[in-house]
Order: sequence, then C-alpha cells, then structure tokens
Amino acid sequence: MNWKVSVVIPCYNEATNLRVLYDALIDVLAPFGWHYELIFVDDGSRDGTLTELERLHNLDPSVHFLSFSRNFGHQPALKAGLDAATGDCVISMDADMQHPPALIPQLVQKWQEGYDVVYTRRLEDKRLPLRKRLTSRFFYRVMNNLSDMEIEEGTADFRLLDRTVVNVLQQLPERDLFMRGLVKWVGFKQFCIDYEPAERFSGVSKYSFGKMFVFALNGITSFSVKPLRLAMLIGFALSLVGFGYGVFAFVSYFFTNWNASGWTSVIMGVLFIGGLQLVMLGIIGEYIGKLFMQAKQRPSYIVQKTSMSHPASEAPRKIVTEALGRQQSVTRRIRSGKNNPQPVDE
Ligand code: UDP
Ligand code: MG
Repeated sequence: MNWKVSVVIPCYNEATNLRVLYDALIDVLAPFGWHYELIFVDDGSRDGTLTELERLHNLDPSVHFLSFSRNFGHQPALKAGLDAATGDCVISMDADMQHPPALIPQLVQKWQEGYDVVYTRRLEDKRLPLRKRLTSRFFYRVMNNLSDMEIEEGTADFRLLDRTVVNVLQQLPERDLFMRGLVKWVGFKQFCIDYEPAERFSGVSKYSFGKMFVFALNGITSFSVKPLRLAMLIGFALSLVGFGYGVFAFVSYFFTNWNASGWTSVIMGVLFIGGLQLVMLGIIGEYIGKLFMQAKQRPSYIVQKTSMSHPASEAPRKIVTEALGRQQSVTRRIRSGKNNPQPVDE
C-alpha cells in the first residue's frame, strides 16, 4: 500500500487533549501499515498547545504542526491544514476527541471504494445542552431555506477528502471560508457515515453563542443572495400595504366625515418600518462587507512557525483542470493497488 493519509486537526487551546488524541490516532493508523502524517494547526493558542506539539513532533516525525500568528478561526485553520497536507487523501477532525478516531478506517474504506468525499453526520447527542441542540437545528433549518445549498443536519468538519477535491478547494480564492458548504458545493462522489459523538475530552467549547451566530451568518451569505431577494420582497409587500392604507386615508378624508385620531398607529408604523429598513440595510451591508474583505485580497491565515519544510500557502489563483485530471487518475491507480509508473494520457 503506497498511499498516504493526512490527518488535519485545528487546535485552539487544546494542550490537554493532544496527547490523548495522538495516542488514539496512532492506535488506529499504525496497525494498517499506511503512510500517514498528522498535521496539527495551532490557531494562535494561548495555553501550552504549541509546546505540546513541538514535543510530539520531536517524538514522532510523522507529527507536524503549523502555528498561526494569532487566532484566525477554525475554518482558516482547516484550510491551512488542507493547503499543507501531502497525502492522497486528507481527513479533517477536531482536537477534542468528539470526532472518534475509530471511525477513520471506515472513512478510508469508503475512499478506497471510490468515493471522493466521505463526510460524517453526527447523530443527535442527548448529552449536549438543549440550547446547543436547538441552535444547531435552527441553524440548519435557516441555512437550508435561505441558501441554495442543502446541508444535512449534523454534518461537522469531520470528513475525508480525496487529493483531487483538496486541490480544487485549495484553488478557490474565497476569503470567508465555510468548509462544509464548500465541500458540498464542489460536488464529486460523496458518501455519508453516521456516528455517535463522544464527549469533549477536556477543556471547554471554543464556539460561543456569538461565534456560532457569525459562523451561521457567514454560511448563509456565502452561498446565496436569497436574503437580499427576501429583503426586496418584504419591501415590495410593505409598500403595497402602505399604498392601500394611503387610498383608505384619502377616501376617508374626502368622502366620509370619519377622521381617525391615529397617533399610536403612526408611531407604530414609523418604528416598524424604520426597524425593518435598518435590517434590510444590514443585510445589504453584510454582502458589501464581504466584497470589501475579499477585494483586499488578504490571506485567510498567517503561519508564524511550522515543522514542515514546505510551509502552507494558499495556491495561485488558477484552476488547472488538466493537472487535476492527471492527479485523479494517478490517485485512482494507487488506490486500486496498480501503482505502475506509466505515463497517464487518458
Ligand atoms: N478551533 C480552532 N479555532 C477557533 C475555535 C475552535 O481551531 O477559533 C478548533 C478547536 O480547537 C476544535 C475545533 O475547532 O478542535 C472545534 O471547536 P470546539 O470543539 O470548541 O467546537 P464545538 O465542538 O463545541 O462545536
Ligand atoms: Mg468540540
């Protein structure tokens, strides 16, 4: 078996989980005799994460790390790992043991059967606080209704990607990354595996309610302009109502002797329409903000320190379809065990 598996793990203040995760991963990967590399991405942690990673790297050269200059966020950390990975397939997972390493052989098996994306779906975890379960369900509902992308509930960033898909993702110039949407968007042959989530081994969740909200907003606005359309429709409906009320006021003033004393209704109307206009402006502003951030062309992350000889970098902005096709056929051949170095010209 000549192929190589990369495992990418974003870590933000996860020092106390790293050793346990490393041991669990080695237990799973070593018996298969695969080549593998573990790429830990330290997302500007302020605990001993980097020290722990350096220790693991000195212990085992298959452990690599990238350390960001500050906290850039989970999604940029994932992207950096994908950019740096050299494997024929790349598995991404969390550092807190909530994504069971024991599932990895199943992911790889499906990949060997020819799937390009093997993603996982978390079965509902009754131990999670009700607030987290409800916000998660609400997020997927809103996301699926407001964007053009159907994302299944419970799909987190625990998945396997074939090298072809990684190359495509690497070449997307998106700055606001929403990986689970992008992976769905790129297509390819996908397979889903359900799993029972485990409890976080130690430490606390890094996704506060505020972070979740920004993440959800990003997911929705990254994939669709439906909110803009919705804003226009609401504006249109309200102006129809306003016009109708205008006709009513006109008729009652000139043709009846009924004059409404309407201070309350006027104030309510002004406040309601005023609030609605601010929301609409906010929606438009969100998209303009995205354009602004994208136009600046800043990288999504900055690597300060790494154990890799070829530090992660975001790829040049061109999709080389020919090269991709070539890569794919080479990968397929390796996977099916026929790794004879013939020229590939199909
Ligand atoms: N993470 C990260 N940067 C951040 C927040 C989180 O790299 O700014 C990592 C974190 O270390 C973990 C994964 O992303 O490996 C998922 O985060 P967490 O477990 O806190 O989220 P939850 O499982 O509670 O949704
Ligand atoms: Mg977690």
